[in-house]
Amino acid sequence: MSVRWLFGDQLGPHFTDDLADDAPVLLVESRRVFARRRFHRAKAHLVLSAMRHRAAELGDRCTYAQVGTYAEALDAVRGPVTVAYPTSHAALRLVQARDDVEVLPARGFATPMPEFARWADGRGARRLLLEDFYRDARRRLDVLMDGDEPAGGRWNFDADNREPPPRDGRLAVPGPWWPAEDDVDAQVRDDLDRWERDGDVAFVGRDGPRRFAATRAEALAALDHFVTHRLDAFGPHEDAMLADDPWMAHSLLSAPMNLGLLDPLEVVARAEQAYRTGAASLQSVEGFVRQVIGWRDYVWHLYWHQPPGYRDRNALAAGEPLPQWFADLDADAVEARCLSTVLAGVRDHGWVHHIPRLMVLGNWALQRGVDPAALTDWFHRCFVDGYDWVMVPNVVGMSQHADGGVMATKPYASGGAYVDRMSDFCRGCRYNPKKRLGPDACPYTAGYWAFLDRTRDRLAGNHRMAQPLKGLERLADLGAVVAQERDRGTSAP
Ligand SMILES: Cc1cc2nc3c(=O)[nH]c(=O)nc-3n(C[C@H](O)[C@H](O)[C@H](O)COP(=O)(O)OP(=O)(O)OC[C@H]3O[C@@H](n4cnc5c(N)ncnc54)[C@H](O)[C@@H]3O)c2cc1C
Ligand code: SF4
Repeated sequence: MSVRWLFGDQLGPHFTDDLADDAPVLLVESRRVFARRRFHRAKAHLVLSAMRHRAAELGDRCTYAQVGTYAEALDAVRGPVTVAYPTSHAALRLVQARDDVEVLPARGFATPMPEFARWADGRGARRLLLEDFYRDARRRLDVLMDGDEPAGGRWNFDADNREPPPRDGRLAVPGPWWPAEDDVDAQVRDDLDRWERDGDVAFVGRDGPRRFAATRAEALAALDHFVTHRLDAFGPHEDAMLADDPWMAHSLLSAPMNLGLLDPLEVVARAEQAYRTGAASLQSVEGFVRQVIGWRDYVWHLYWHQPPGYRDRNALAAGEPLPQWFADLDADAVEARCLSTVLAGVRDHGWVHHIPRLMVLGNWALQRGVDPAALTDWFHRCFVDGYDWVMVPNVVGMSQHADGGVMATKPYASGGAYVDRMSDFCRGCRYNPKKRLGPDACPYTAGYWAFLDRTRDRLAGNHRMAQPLKGLERLADLGAVVAQERDRGTSAP
């Protein structure tokens, strides 16, 4: 009988449901993975907790190998091994290099790889647009459809889902579901303490109470709580940020989905059911479904679809090293309230929602010309939901425009006005989002113009940048702004 090898992000029932109940399973806990890079401690905790919980559930049929490398564990297996398609190029190379391992089709994504290939091939020279992929997926998977038409007659509720935050700084929605830690978590924490003491590994960030689901039962409870209590509020303020409420109405399901504990199709089925029974508005349900079978799958397929050099692309020639305060998640070193608050969120939870990632962290790095590969590595290590397949397109492509426009038609660069409109950060900040010169000049506002000045030749051919570049020409004090921002550089603002 062959052995099913489960990577640490293949932990749900859909990775073993084709096997007999007693078929042997292998899970490998490789200490060297943590020794090589400085991960967020909450991420190390979550992944180890999830793997050990899964091993305990599988019982005697599971070999839980605590070893240095994957190869050590595989060498100890007698007989053939099967594994579902892994989630990184490096892991794929590893499994394909072994004669004894059979690689099965990918699981845990809504659109199968051959289906994406058919869709992409059918487009010829046209761009692989998310919107087109998403509509195709809705039709093909029959999600939120009334016959051949989208439910409610509209495919896209984005325009309704960009509201600024509520004025009183609070979103009227019940809080997220939180897990209760158990003995497995305590054991993981002890092990991490010991490894750190022994000098084997070094972590960054705080390992507070575990915030994300680590088992199938927890993941289902988190999904149920979200759909029942929070989904209806998801849409309208999806893009807004609040200083005192990092979670707002977000699902917090990326971590369990990326651990393979939930299948995206069951997630959207629950969301659709809430719409059909009147428990959640179409505006919110469509917004959420778009994220899960749209964005999540689109990013997954782009990761595999791009040529191998994609991760090293640097179309805007950004070469600044990632500063130490950023790498250390030293939020206290930062006065800019938006960046300080968001960095504190990463330090404390290993998670902030999409807009802080894109418009605060990513925007800052883009404006300052931080090396995209270093930034990708940082995001990967510091976020509980970070894996190679999802970080490379999101950081290199969406956030840093280092792919020259494969993923996003223009860079996500913006000044303080955006942050001011979409958050309550600016009110308590020592900088002024309207100022670009002087001691209270907002680093985002001034940084935006300095970014455009630095990249104007590279962006000149992009028609979506024509307007901003024209604005740059009209800036009488541009020289002074650029000099000011050169001085500020990548020091903590
Ligand atoms: C710079 C940057 C880095 C990111 N890194 C990651 C990452 O490492 N892992 C990750 O899962 N997501 C990543 N995202 C996407 C998104 O920010 C997170 O999926 C989301 O914030 C997770 O929180 P949530 O589960 O509450 O999401 P919700 O707001 O509740 O959204 C629902 C789900 O949609 C999916 N989703 C939405 N957008 C994306 C996207 N762009 N890519 C992939 N999935 C998406 C996620 O599975 C998420 O759980 C990144 C985005 C940016 C801009
Ligand atoms: S003023 Fe500028 S630095 Fe301060 S919170 Fe607003 S955008 Fe951030």
